[in-house]
Amino acid sequence: MAEVRYEAASRIYPGSEEPAVDALDLHITDGELLVLVGPSGSGKSTALRMLAGLEYVDKGSIFINDVDVTLKPPQERDIAMVFQNYALYPSMTVAENMGFALKQAKVPKEQRRAQVEEAARILDLEPYLDRKPKNLSGGQRQRVAMGRAIVRSPQVFLMDEPQSNLDAKLRVQTRTELADLQARLGTTMVYVTHDQVEAMTMGHRVAVLKDGILQQVDAPRTLYNAPRNRFVAGFIGSPAMNILDVERIDGALKIGSLDVPLTPDLAGKVTAASTSDFAVGVRPEHLSFTEGGLAGEVVVVEALGSESFIHVRTLHQGGEQLLVIREDGQSSIQRGDRVALSIAGPIHVFGSDGERIAG
Ligand code: ADP
Ligand code: MG
Repeated sequence: MAEVRYEAASRIYPGSEEPAVDALDLHITDGELLVLVGPSGSGKSTALRMLAGLEYVDKGSIFINDVDVTLKPPQERDIAMVFQNYALYPSMTVAENMGFALKQAKVPKEQRRAQVEEAARILDLEPYLDRKPKNLSGGQRQRVAMGRAIVRSPQVFLMDEPQSNLDAKLRVQTRTELADLQARLGTTMVYVTHDQVEAMTMGHRVAVLKDGILQQVDAPRTLYNAPRNRFVAGFIGSPAMNILDVERIDGALKIGSLDVPLTPDLAGKVTAASTSDFAVGVRPEHLSFTEGGLAGEVVVVEALGSESFIHVRTLHQGGEQLLVIREDGQSSIQRGDRVALSIAGPIHVFGSDGERIAG
């Protein structure tokens, strides 16, 4: 059982000007599955390695259960980490692979065996304990890598893109299994991925990083419904949120001929803002085809069966704009169709600094 706290924790790699992780403040509660997500190079692995004790913390501190572990070596943190490119020992059986860390820690043989068997039971690996890794499927190997972590019953699991060796279908299956495993064990887990879908489906909460800076940490639904800034708005959700640059004209926001519907609260905030440059975000499911709306032409139809993503080129403010609309899978709209769009759901308004104003 463990909670984790990063307090203004930074890592500045030698020779680098910019921190790879910049004053990270993050509180992970006991039993939580927190996902760290962000583009490549955003500092996810560095943040995880700082917690594991594998990376120096240049400023700030890290606490596990109120114990300051900032200067403690990895083995004194009671943490187990599964890496991106986990390697199993090819000459060892599954049981030996899973028990290796325990053997090194000089755990007696009988106890080792009991712990390995318990982990194998949890992971459905019992029939494979005597096999060598080469005689396992990709998914089974991944479970063995996980097994090596859970035999130690650590206080915290750290996983750095453990799925990246697996094909797409297997990833979907194993991420469900992993979330289920975490729920059953109740062990605090920090899981790193660059895949926002994985983050949204697995995380109790999701922390979004960009350029080493934490952008937002919230439950998946809150991230989706109320992104704090333009970056989070564009990063979370697929297809991405449509984000249009608009201008305030006489207190109203307009996209070409289309009035952006503003609640009284939002209209007040837009009027009060010091800038007249805004961006309006609309999710693909919140645009609809209606006569008299913003005119455009369908350029691509992605028909997925259950739903279709319709890409429309519009003309407004003298510029072309590509918008994506999520439609029913049975939609009859075709490439080349002339259409008109309007907003049929919540909108998000961002100021010129990219911060959410409201909406
Ligand atoms: P992510 O895991 O999100 O892809 P990383 O934490 O690996 O990001 O990297 C964050 C930043 O730190 C990147 O700019 C990367 O180039 C840099 N970086 C990572 N590891 C090192 C290192 N050992 N030495 C110097 N710079 C590094
Ligand atoms: Mg990484």
